[in-house]
This record gives sequence, C-alpha cells and structure tokens, in this order.
Amino acid sequence: MSDHSPCLNCGACCATFRVSFYWGETDSAPGGDVPTQLTEQITPYRACMQGTNQPQPRCVGLMGTVGEGVRCSIYEKRPSPCRDFPFHGENGLDSPDCQRARAAHGLPPLPSNPTRPRLIPIVAA
Ligand code: SF4
Repeated sequence: MSDHSPCLNCGACCATFRVSFYWGETDSAPGGDVPTQLTEQITPYRACMQGTNQPQPRCVGLMGTVGEGVRCSIYEKRPSPCRDFPFHGENGLDSPDCQRARAAHGLPPLPSNPTRPRLIPIVAA
C-alpha cells in the first residue's frame, strides 16, 4: 500500500455504483466471506452491499468522508466487484469509471497516465 494512493482520500467508487455480486460470496454460503448482515438480497441469486441499491449510493462498509479520507471496514472480506474495480492507474491505465465516480462527487479528475508506484484501492482496516 502506498501512503500516497489517491484512493485513500477518495472513496467515490464506494459511493457511486451499485455493488452487486453472486450471493454465494456472502458468508451465508460455504466458502463465502462477505458479511451477510451488510448485504441486501436483490434477486434469488444476487446480493448487493447495503446502501448501494439506492439513488444516492453509499456502501455501508465505507468509513470516512468521500474526497477527504476513507477506508473499507471489510477490506479483507469485500466482494468481487470491489476487488475487480479498475482503479485509476492500475496496470498503468486510466480508469473512466474511477473518473466518473469522482466527477459525481465534485472531485477533480486524476491526472492521465498515472505513474507508479501502483495504486491500491481503499486501505485495510
Ligand atoms: S465493501 Fe468496501 S471496497 Fe466495497 S464498496 Fe463497500 S466500502 Fe467500498
């Protein structure tokens, strides 16, 4: 984890998109990790993080203030969309989704062609 990762003072992705995933990722299922009590069932086969299935999403797991300082309270048990989210700078690539989330919160875009060290999303608890 880089202390300079912009993810640590952003968190916009966790407060912009619906975070949905196969229900088998919850700890209600064998081998699942995501705390069920922090999820909402949205179909017989899919769940989402509580707080993200609404017009102004904000994941229940997000702690802190978007654009100032944030962390994920279930970092080690976060669902696959969080692990797979293409954050800005990953593999040296820009992330349109990251920029879109930042814009939705009035945050300025991150510079294009970000440099290494590799950026890591939301710090562990
Ligand atoms: S589980 Fe953690 S990383 Fe995923 S949206 Fe919620 S706060 Fe963000």
